[in-house]
Amino acid sequence: MNIILLGPPGAGKGTQAARLVKERGMVQLSTGDMLRAAVREGTPTGLEVKAIMAAGDLVSDEIVNQLIDEKLASLSPDQGVIFDGYPRTRAQAEALDGLLAKHGRTLGHVIELDVDEDALVDRITGRFTCAKCGEGYHDRHKLPAVENVCDVCASTEFKRRPDDNEETVRTRMAEYRAKTAPILPFYEARKLVARVDGMASIEQVDAAIEAVLGLA
Ligand code: AMP
Repeated sequence: MNIILLGPPGAGKGTQAARLVKERGMVQLSTGDMLRAAVREGTPTGLEVKAIMAAGDLVSDEIVNQLIDEKLASLSPDQGVIFDGYPRTRAQAEALDGLLAKHGRTLGHVIELDVDEDALVDRITGRFTCAKCGEGYHDRHKLPAVENVCDVCASTEFKRRPDDNEETVRTRMAEYRAKTAPILPFYEARKLVARVDGMASIEQVDAAIEAVLGLA
């Protein structure tokens, strides 16, 4: 099964993808994670995209299409994939059709996480993760039980994304509205889109997604 999680930054795509990886053995393909890794490692792609990402703008379609092509080539076709943060433009959606065909896959569902923008700014500007195990936290909604100690692995190192500040978040939202939301009709015409209330609790969002996937 191959699915796309679609929704503005902070909608919960990464949280849901991580859960599907853990509980359903699917593979998460997050272009944001791949690009952050490239920036960290200082690869030519990383150097090219660093400032674009810091500003909250979109990197070129060619770069992300190629990253996805390479990842799909490294997987066996029976491993289900969750596309997280990709496609983000109509050109990427069209490229993805070609890549799925090339790698012997079909698209099962496009799940749109429907959310309120002002709540997202609050979610994103407070979020941070354990630098060691990746557990997610929030300044206002989910602090570690013991100050500065990860609940899961007891590490005392935490990190924040440099693009999780209010100004960049507003740009990322505007990019979503202008370039990504208009992809929905492309998939609606094929009856692939299911809308899930992303403002519900994580458990309720989990259950709604399981129902869409026919796993409930
Ligand atoms: P994300 O982790 O999905 O929020 O992505 C973080 C940043 O990486 C975005 O604000 C963009 O600058 C860039 N990015 C990630 N995925 C894509 C994509 N599919 N197309 C263009 N830019 C992307």
